Amino acid sequence: MKKILITGGAGFVGSHLCERLLNEGNEVLCLDNYFTGDKKNILKLLDNPYFEMIRHDITEPYYAEVDEIYNLACPASPFHYQFNPIKTMKTSVMGAINMLGLAKRVGAKILQASTSEVYGDPAVHPQPESYWGHVNPIGIRSCYDEGKRCAETLFMDYHIQNKVAIKIVRIFNTYGPNMNPSDGRVVSNFIMQALRGENITIFGDGLQTRSFQYVDDLVEGMIRVMASDPSFLGPVNLGNPNEFTMLELAQAIIRLTNSKSSIIYMPLPQDDPKQRQPDISLAKERLNGWKPYIELEEGLGKTISYFESLL
Ligand code: NAD
Ligand code: UDP
Ligand code: UDP
Repeated sequence: MKKILITGGAGFVGSHLCERLLNEGNEVLCLDNYFTGDKKNILKLLDNPYFEMIRHDITEPYYAEVDEIYNLACPASPFHYQFNPIKTMKTSVMGAINMLGLAKRVGAKILQASTSEVYGDPAVHPQPESYWGHVNPIGIRSCYDEGKRCAETLFMDYHIQNKVAIKIVRIFNTYGPNMNPSDGRVVSNFIMQALRGENITIFGDGLQTRSFQYVDDLVEGMIRVMASDPSFLGPVNLGNPNEFTMLELAQAIIRLTNSKSSIIYMPLPQDDPKQRQPDISLAKERLNGWKPYIELEEGLGKTISYFESLL
């Protein structure tokens, strides 16, 4: 039985990862400060004696003896990470230092949840891991993008300087049950608006694109990366390459919810990337043929059912 630490475990992705790793017979320690996470997401795990929930902010040191660490703690939606940009940067940078210090002390393997945002508003399409990105260092998204880039640097330097066993995954837009319904991300916004019969708010002309991955495919990828050959550190893209415009997403959600909502157009936020699509050749090659299986309509169906249960 492995002891696994998951930071941000009460959040959307973290809660799915906690459940999956517990079901596989591991002992799971979940650290979260509940900034964007919710106890509801892990309520059903609390009866399991091999699950431990600890309220802790990873910008502060933390001591425990563990075998593996998944570092997910960080607000992920623009609305939440821009709420206190300095804190977002501290979480990415000081959080990474503390978790890497812990990994170094106990000899644990550590995986960083990085992001497609390290590519910024990409000039190369689709984005392979070799692309260095196009990121504004002083814009409203910078606290998140540059914080995650700095964390990648720290992971690589702890590996080179201190021989820490690291893994870096670059996650592309992911959705599913346990998303925070009020975090302002496009999938949660559109579904909640459609279910409530409110106007669907498209920012800009709606022709910007994203590639949406269902959470189960991501969790499978993260677990395979953690178990991969020690020489394979990443960074590796995990995402679903099927690309959609925000207008197509809105239309799909209106159809799947049988909603009477209308689409309205609002100003595009500053530095909003125009397009995003992962090149997942590396993941397919190095992770025993990993690829996403759940396509948008099926994943949206499961997500809509979850959001309906909240109303
Ligand atoms: P989320 O907001 O649901 O989860 C983040 C969790 O981290 C929350 O439970 C929050 O309370 C916790 N947290 C935030 N700051 C903390 C701190 N200082 N100390 C302790 N806990 C803290 O977001 P998510 O979508 O589940 O994202 C999880 C990770 O995956 C994040 O690191 C995010 O950057 C990354 N990621 C997610 C996506 C996506 O589309 N969901 C895409 C790229 C990267
Ligand atoms: N740290 C931690 N838990 C541990 C070991 C270290 O939180 O089990 C923190 C520690 O507080 C330090 C950071 O991780 O600030 C980096 O540790 P490292 O050993 O790399 O650096 P140093 O302690 O020399 O600053
Ligand atoms: N978006 C939108 N309406 C909304 C929320 C978001 O049109 O109510 C757009 C947003 O401008 C962006 C895309 O949807 O172009 C994805 O936004 P999200 O915040 O989900 O993720 P990110 O921009 O970080 O990829």
